[in-house]
Amino acid sequence: MKKDDKAWLQCINCQAVYPLSYRGYICRECGDLLDVVLDLDRVDTRSWSIFKDRPKGVWRYRELIPVDSSKKVTLNEGGTPLIECSRLSKWVGLKKIYIKFEGANPTGSFKDRGMTVAVTKAVELKVKGVICASTGNTAASLAAYAARAGLPCITVIPQDAALGKVFQALAHGAVLVKVRGSFDQALRIVFSEAEEIGYYILNSVNAWRLEGQKTLGYELAEELGGEYSVFVPVGNCGNIAAIWKGLTELKNLGLIENTPKMFGVQAEGAAPFAKMVRENRDILDPIKDPQTIASAIRIGKPVNWKKALRAIRESRGDAVIVSDMEIREAQAAIARLEGLGVEPASAASVAGAKKMVEEGRISPDEVIVCICTGHLLKDPNPELFKPKALIEIEPGKQKLTHELSKLNILQLETTTH
Ligand SMILES: [Zn+2]
Repeated sequence: MKKDDKAWLQCINCQAVYPLSYRGYICRECGDLLDVVLDLDRVDTRSWSIFKDRPKGVWRYRELIPVDSSKKVTLNEGGTPLIECSRLSKWVGLKKIYIKFEGANPTGSFKDRGMTVAVTKAVELKVKGVICASTGNTAASLAAYAARAGLPCITVIPQDAALGKVFQALAHGAVLVKVRGSFDQALRIVFSEAEEIGYYILNSVNAWRLEGQKTLGYELAEELGGEYSVFVPVGNCGNIAAIWKGLTELKNLGLIENTPKMFGVQAEGAAPFAKMVRENRDILDPIKDPQTIASAIRIGKPVNWKKALRAIRESRGDAVIVSDMEIREAQAAIARLEGLGVEPASAASVAGAKKMVEEGRISPDEVIVCICTGHLLKDPNPELFKPKALIEIEPGKQKLTHELSKLNILQLETTTH
């Protein structure tokens, strides 16, 4: 690595450095994770003004993303809506809640932010093909960006992956490998065989993924400054770390004064990270058979736990564990009180905030942002929602008005509104 480089890869443990052209995912010296590090003294970005006139989205912040943006593989990802939710705030018991609706990304999840950058990097590295293990959203996103780049793509998913996500990966032409086992087992297969196949791994162990996802932090900072807390669903631990990376870069550049606290939320059947944080331990104890309806965070051995722990400790945040029932209630509340459709894992963020209010761990006066990571249609599970009313009609024989009044629906609607 040359000393005048503006950015490099650096091991989070032994601090060994590698040039940006390094194709590996982990440190050769100690096997730990790598960060993309920008030399902030050499980044010519000291005010928001250079960003302001550009379209919203990941590439609005291109000076802070060290890949060749003239060759970007993009679907105009990022720039997602930040929605103030007053009815949901009352339900949770907080002064103000915003939902950052990542389901509005091109393939319906936050993964697109990371893929636009990481697939651009893959093209730069002239890789033969791309591969990932995934609970579903990563597969859907990678398949789409690989199609856009004209790269062959293999996705390895557990057999119980959500239907909408599997369908997306198939539609975009990925080779689909179903593993009779968990996500963690799928990831192990990818780690052990990607090199032999000669394909580039695009799981979040790849630091370029987080380099795109950090723009979520940039957008929050640009829209809200720093006076709020952020609740993030945690599975493989990459997103919370990425958001925090973005926020700390802006603080170090002098673009924001304060950074928010970061709160990680996990489901009780898949909570190795939250347990470690709550018990103030420094080592993660993996779970063999993680269980939760929130399939996107059904992960027993999160790859990025060290980076996520750093985010929570540096921001003076915390972790919280919620039950599947609490996730379902939150998902229904978001859908019915605000008209926002999010998948179960996304709703964990709101469930986590509610739980912390109930336990007196955060003040009702707080302003919070819940990161809702994926769209409702990703996981069309009819067991999750009880219909308010489901009426079947024989045309010409039954009158709708009659059926509605039989169920007392019209009367009910007038009294509740
Ligand atoms: Zn190292």
